[in-house]
Amino acid sequence: MSGADRQPPHVPAPEGSFQRLIEDIYFARDHARGVPGTLLWFVEEVGELVRAIRRGERHNLEEEFGDVYAWLATLASLHGIDLEAIGRRKYGAGCPRCHGAPCRCPHPAG
Ligand SMILES: [Zn+2]
Repeated sequence: MSGADRQPPHVPAPEGSFQRLIEDIYFARDHARGVPGTLLWFVEEVGELVRAIRRGERHNLEEEFGDVYAWLATLASLHGIDLEAIGRRKYGAGCPRCHGAPCRCPHPAG
């Protein structure tokens, strides 16, 4: 069985979600590029976000958070993952370990 055979058919992200907005704009192009090329874009944007945070540049910060969010959404779409749904499934009932909100797990700060 090849990798393509294991690729699930694309199910669009829910209407009205940010992920769906990005899919509507870019999914055809992102799908044609594929995961390896898209991963490079994602990592590049994460690097730019890190630089913006370290430099404390407000304008760039907003720009780079937007880019990283969009590329993360794209990567999720390419894997058939509904980002909002999996985030809610994991954290919707509070901390996955102690179920608290806020988390009450004993752990060192930082
Ligand atoms: Zn916890």
